[in-house]
Amino acid sequence: MFIKNYISEIVQAIKSLLKGMKMTGYYFTHHKEIITEQYPDNRNTLQLAERFRGEVIMPHDENNEHACTGCTACELACPNGTIKIITKHDITPEGKKKKAIDAFIYHLELCTMCNLCIEACPTDAIKMSNAFEHSVYNRRDLTKILNQPNSKIREGIE
Ligand code: SF4
Ligand code: SF4
Repeated sequence: MFIKNYISEIVQAIKSLLKGMKMTGYYFTHHKEIITEQYPDNRNTLQLAERFRGEVIMPHDENNEHACTGCTACELACPNGTIKIITKHDITPEGKKKKAIDAFIYHLELCTMCNLCIEACPTDAIKMSNAFEHSVYNRRDLTKILNQPNSKIREGIE
C-alpha cells in the first residue's frame, strides 16, 4: 500500500511538472500573448488602467488655481484621518471675510485609496492619480500639502 501511494504521488508530481512546462513552452513561443509587464524596464511606456488609484491629488490650472473651498467634506468622509484641512479667512475685494483653504494635508502613508474623499467633494477639487512609485527613505516625505504655494480658489467656485 505504501509503495502504491508513493508511486502515485511521484506520477502526480511528474504530471504537474509537465503541465507547468507545457504552459511555459507555450508562452516561450507566443511572446505576443504575454501580459506580464517587465517593470521597471517598461517605465516609459507603462500604461495603467484609468481607474487605478495611486494617490489623491489636487489639480491646479495654469493660473495656479484650484477648486477647493476648504469645506472639509473630504476630511469628514475619510475613514482613517488621512486628510487634515486647515482653513484661513481671505478678504474679498468687497472687504468681506471668506473661508479659504490654507493647507490640505494628505498622509499618503495612511491612505487606503478608498476614494471616499473624492466622492464627497462637492466641487471635484481632488482626484486620484495613477502615480504608484511612492518609495521614500523618510516617512515624513509621505505627508504632502496638496494645494500649491500661493495658489487660490478658481473664481466662481463656492
Ligand atoms: S482615498 Fe480614502 S483613505 Fe485615502 S484620503 Fe481619501 S478617504 Fe481617506
Ligand atoms: S477637496 Fe473638496 S471636499 Fe475637500 S475641502 Fe476641498 S472642496 Fe471640500
